Amino acid sequence: MSISILSTKTIKDAVRAAIGHEATFTIVSSGTSPCPNCSVSGWYDSYNDKSLYPWCGICSGDYWLDGESQITVSGAHVRWITMDTPGYGPAGQTYEGDCYVTISIDDLTTTQVNNVKEIEVDSRKVQPFKTIYRGIPSRDRIRFMCREFEKV
Ligand SMILES: [Zn+2]
Repeated sequence: MSISILSTKTIKDAVRAAIGHEATFTIVSSGTSPCPNCSVSGWYDSYNDKSLYPWCGICSGDYWLDGESQITVSGAHVRWITMDTPGYGPAGQTYEGDCYVTISIDDLTTTQVNNVKEIEVDSRKVQPFKTIYRGIPSRDRIRFMCREFEKV
């Protein structure tokens, strides 16, 4: 890598950090999405809050499945740490680099923070593996340590 490319990248990074990024958080909430099979067939048992069809191959009679919702946060601070050597994650996926995404503590609720499945930043999808509360004197920011996986 030549020096000119490196310095251009450093300037770009500094500008990005100053204006902030948009980060879209995919959050899993358990039992919020109706089973498509049972809802289409009208098998919702409102008295027991279950499916009338306990042999359903999708929900096994629970009716409610885990749902996903997306929350976009602007002004996220994103820092990429590119790995020199690609490693291997779960299911043989190759990770491209690590990434820190830092947002304000007001952007997400504690429940949402604990249920983040993936984050999309800079048109790349990353999976958080650690959450750190930061800030002095009050802990006013959350940093997600993430890993980018390339879909195999
Ligand atoms: Zn079902």
